[in-house]
Amino acid sequence: MTSNTINNVVVDHGAIEALKSFSLPADISFGKALTPVMIEADYDNGKWGEFKLVPYRSLNIDPTCKVLHYGQEIFEGMKGYNTKGAGPFLFRPDQNAERFNLSALRMAMPEVPINDFLGSVETLTSYCADFIPVNSGESLYIRPFMYASESNLGIKPSEKFKFLVVASPSAAYFSSGSVKVLVEEDAVRACPGGVGAAKTGGNYAASLLSMIEAKKKGFHQVLWLDALKKEYIEEMSGMNFFAVYGGEIRTPSLTSTILNGITRKSIIEMAKHLGVKVVEQEMKIMDLLEDIKSGKCSECFACGTAVIITPIDTLGLANGELFPLGQNYGPTTKKLREALLNLQEGTGEDPFGWRIKLEAASY
Ligand SMILES: *Cc1c(COP(=O)(O)O)cnc(C)c1O
Repeated sequence: MTSNTINNVVVDHGAIEALKSFSLPADISFGKALTPVMIEADYDNGKWGEFKLVPYRSLNIDPTCKVLHYGQEIFEGMKGYNTKGAGPFLFRPDQNAERFNLSALRMAMPEVPINDFLGSVETLTSYCADFIPVNSGESLYIRPFMYASESNLGIKPSEKFKFLVVASPSAAYFSSGSVKVLVEEDAVRACPGGVGAAKTGGNYAASLLSMIEAKKKGFHQVLWLDALKKEYIEEMSGMNFFAVYGGEIRTPSLTSTILNGITRKSIIEMAKHLGVKVVEQEMKIMDLLEDIKSGKCSECFACGTAVIITPIDTLGLANGELFPLGQNYGPTTKKLREALLNLQEGTGEDPFGWRIKLEAASY
């Protein structure tokens, strides 16, 4: 027997060999170490072929592969948890599957059937359960993605696509614990009618120059404003934004230019459950900065799968003006971060049914 089928995913014999001979590097950071296996599937002639668990390997790409020229690519970011060996768990993977297909629609790419997406992620996580680090804050970072794989320079939507899922046993994203954020008053990340709500590589490419400039000035991240007026807060390059006002949390309401974060959405539902008031509304940057100065706004944080909930200790403007919020975790940021981590890592109750328990595969 050379293969076995689980969750509708074909498990290649070579994948088992790769798993057996793998050991996790002693020193892991975020996204550098990779599991020895990955998921692969090809779309051609209007349909998906087999979804397979295969050994991790380099891809053989023709120089005219369309993604290299026209950027037709989408991705997801999610995590597998095995904190203190309680897992493996996934957190709301159905939400990633749905969002992946919304991104696909916007980028003129085929949907991946929800069951194939979930089967792929579950199979990869089950087989890599032994490689998920077990300390709180660590996880298996899982990256499903799809790209236009047809080879020719014609400017037409591709008819061939490749779907892959790779995974990285990872430590916490920010080693610093809190971040300094520069308000980007010039460049924009997303404009109405564009692709800001899709998880596509181009949005990240468009954000990098600002990030480099911000780093030169001593910041870790930039906060993007709306493209038209540069008055309203949108989000950060790969994270959503929240501000704490007394016992209340505020976040910009979703628009076509803000990525609908699953962490954002989960924090909103979780906060309501914990009795923390949530306000989703347009947020003017100048009002926020004034409120930080006056103390009305006492905490700000960034949230996303990779960064979980990370406190912002300072906001800054290009003119050098700084708006400090204090280095340490504020009480609301801390409470929400702990509640979210307990949910994700299996150390707390899950009244929402968000945590999915998997079985570790034996091989
Ligand atoms: C992925 C992403 C987020 C965070 O989404 P999560 O589902 O919470 O991980 C926020 N903003 C952008 C631009 C993103 O790409």
